[in-house]
Amino acid sequence: MIWKWLLVAAALFVLYKLFVGDRDRDEKKKAKVQERKIAAGELVKDPVCGTYVEADSSIKVRDGEAVHHFCGYDCRQKFLDRMQDSGREIPRLDKKDDDDD
Ligand SMILES: [Zn+2]
Repeated sequence: MIWKWLLVAAALFVLYKLFVGDRDRDEKKKAKVQERKIAAGELVKDPVCGTYVEADSSIKVRDGEAVHHFCGYDCRQKFLDRMQDSGREIPRLDKKDDDDD
């Protein structure tokens, strides 16, 4: 009767392998998609925390020619504080409330 249990164990093992293999593939697929998006400029790195953010929905700071992307206002503030600390002029924020232009 033990062969029955061995069969069950083998079946479970195969299922487990399939499941883990799928997840593995998914992870690799996700990494590929991310790589492609980074190359296409759709994903950009937050210079403060290193998170990748969607360029369209990120919080942006224009600094001359460069545009910096942030995952949140906390990171943007940290970045601006650092700029100020290093004696640089803080770039205009993308807000509508500074009309003196
Ligand atoms: Zn961030």
